Amino acid sequence: MGQPTPLPPIPSLPTMSDSLLNTPTPSPHGTQEPLPTPDLMMLREPHVELPMSNPAMDPTHSDLTESIHTPNNMQGDQNMEIPTNPTTLHTPTTEEEAILTHLAMVETNRSIMSQNSPHHRTILPQFMPIPTGSFPKVHMSHSAQIFDHLNTKVLLAWFQVVHPKFLVRVFNHSGKDITERTTVITEHICNSVAIIANYVHQDAAPIQVSPLQPQGGRSAKNYLTCFLVHNTSDETKELILNQHIWSATNITFEALPFACQHPPDLLFCLSGFTTSNVETVHKMVADVWAHEDNRHHINDFFSTSEIVEEELVYKATRDLIRSICIEHLDFKVTGGLSVPCFNIFTTSPTTNAKTWMDLRGFLHILDYPTGLDSCGTAIALHPCPICHSLAHPCGLCPFPEVLLWNGPRVSNRTMANGPCTSRRLRGGRTG
Ligand SMILES: [Zn+2]
Repeated sequence: MGQPTPLPPIPSLPTMSDSLLNTPTPSPHGTQEPLPTPDLMMLREPHVELPMSNPAMDPTHSDLTESIHTPNNMQGDQNMEIPTNPTTLHTPTTEEEAILTHLAMVETNRSIMSQNSPHHRTILPQFMPIPTGSFPKVHMSHSAQIFDHLNTKVLLAWFQVVHPKFLVRVFNHSGKDITERTTVITEHICNSVAIIANYVHQDAAPIQVSPLQPQGGRSAKNYLTCFLVHNTSDETKELILNQHIWSATNITFEALPFACQHPPDLLFCLSGFTTSNVETVHKMVADVWAHEDNRHHINDFFSTSEIVEEELVYKATRDLIRSICIEHLDFKVTGGLSVPCFNIFTTSPTTNAKTWMDLRGFLHILDYPTGLDSCGTAIALHPCPICHSLAHPCGLCPFPEVLLWNGPRVSNRTMANGPCTSRRLRGGRTG
């Protein structure tokens, strides 16, 4: 657990006079004690210098050695400022002191209660909560995959829709489903976003959801799974994008900014090895890329990007190799025989779309030989019918494994829509 967040600055009290501000106030906790309100100050002020505590004001006190007229008496003239009307003075009891102490902190308490903690997570009963850590990552084929196959006229119309706007991609629906059930799915998205918008602002403006239209219309070969959400506030948009995945019982979707993403981490999937050891595969991939010929090629790709200085080009290649991350996918074929496959991930040092595409194309066609465990080659990737990620088949989808997951699971329908494994077994992912 981290340290508590420091309290926000205490707002100034414009009606409080300088003399009140300068009045000493008991402050057992030091710097974080809020300033009492003026009313409370008035109650406390007499207690600061009670006349009975001063022997000079005590008519029964006759010790001349303590008289204010006695030389070297350090009390000086301060007693002359003490209020002379004893009827306004009241010594709070212990109980009253306790009440006053709590009331003195009322503003700070109210302020704490009205703010979200740094670990705040929106909890709306209609949606499953964010799991510890975060939702699994959905891997795409390239930075602008969400706009793939979109009708050009529709894309231009989407460009002209004013911000705030964002995209959602619905889980467990193929593009064909969406084309056939556009009205129902649009309604579900609209209702879900409206629940979140009304949580952010009471009486939020009606949300608008624009269904996509693929290039080629009803006879399109490539279907789409994205919708544009607009007529929302910045706060609603940020909240939805931050949580990223929203799962209710009737719809689950991934929210994406209306922009190009950073190049995907997933480069390709290798198969053909006789080992399922991720360390062996990791070392082999790093060795292949670091081989002199291949390293020169990788340098050449980076030098066509925004990275121009020679030293930074070399650094980009080193960073790419250091960022290699391997995930083992335990594919099974009929009869339960394991066919180990490995996803290769990296963090792209460049955001240049062409550089990244050329680099991935080059790395994709290389041979990946091990000494004893055969040679790996890249295999085709198919999107998961549940989450649309390219990193796994539906049988290995990590979403149904998330605690309290209320979204779609592997079903006969999803099994029929894509390549699946006979049972879910997940290998480790190492970097
Ligand atoms: Zn999946």
